[in-house]
Amino acid sequence: MYIMPVDVICGMKVKESTPYKSEFQGNTFYFCCSSCKAEFDKNPLKYSR
Ligand SMILES: [Zn+2]
Repeated sequence: MYIMPVDVICGMKVKESTPYKSEFQGNTFYFCCSSCKAEFDKNPLKYSR
């Protein structure tokens, strides 16, 4: 079963086709909107584990 990526900022499930994504330490993170992406980009270490 395919598991959708989860926006680590707000917890929403998002599609991999979203334009809002960031690469960090070799992983790709997906977001529901530009503000979640901006929040991640401000402090990626806090959210990537
Ligand atoms: Zn979000």
